[in-house]
Amino acid sequence: MIIVFMGPPGAGKGTQAQKLSSAFNIPALSTGEMFREAIKAQTPTGLKAAEYVNAGNLVPDEVVVGIVEERILQPDCANGFILDGFPRTLNQAEALDKLLEKHNLTLDHVFCLDVDEEEIVRRQAGRLVAPKSGRVYHVSSNPPAVAGVCDESGEELVQREDDKEDVVRHRLHVYSEQTEPICAYYERKDMLERIDGMQGVDEVFADLSSRVRSKMAA
Ligand code: ADP
Ligand code: AMP
Repeated sequence: MIIVFMGPPGAGKGTQAQKLSSAFNIPALSTGEMFREAIKAQTPTGLKAAEYVNAGNLVPDEVVVGIVEERILQPDCANGFILDGFPRTLNQAEALDKLLEKHNLTLDHVFCLDVDEEEIVRRQAGRLVAPKSGRVYHVSSNPPAVAGVCDESGEELVQREDDKEDVVRHRLHVYSEQTEPICAYYERKDMLERIDGMQGVDEVFADLSSRVRSKMAA
């Protein structure tokens, strides 16, 4: 089962990818999370990516495609994986097709979470993340049991550097310029499944999981 999540930053891709990952036992691969980890660990990839990520710009395609290929060949991806935040340019979408073909894999779902701009800004402004586990919360709509603390790891929650308001607005612009055109690419292939992302976390999850289940049964 190979799933791609599309949708603007803050739409809920990471939240839903993590839930599907637990429910269907396939890893959720967030390229954004990979970059945040690499930046923290100051690896060569992290050093290359930091200026782009912190400013809300896209990391160059060749860097991203390289880390995705390396990751999907790991043994835990043998039964499938969920891509959250990749592809983000037309070039990356084409590279993904080539990569899958090369490894004899096929895409099962391309979900696009539709959420309006005002809600997106609200979601990002209130987003809190657990830096080690990558768990995502929201101060009001998806809060942890104890304020400021991750339910699972107990670590302190923080605001992402790129969730500051000016960077949020810039990322939305980058999305509409560079990433939204990919929706048409998948639409032409009759693969795009638009999901009402304005619903609550549980309703979106119910919608997604029933689609995954029916494809598995087919
Ligand atoms: P993305 O991965 O698309 O950038 P996230 O999954 O990180 O988005 O979600 C952005 C913020 O919105 C987080 O604070 C998350 O808790 C919250 N959120 C996610 N889905 C919903 C939803 N359906 N309703 C309300 N808040 C949500
Ligand atoms: P995200 O966690 O998906 O919001 O991603 C955070 C940041 O990581 C983005 O704003 C980009 O700087 C970078 N990034 C993540 N995925 C990609 C990608 N597929 N292509 C280019 N840059 C990416």
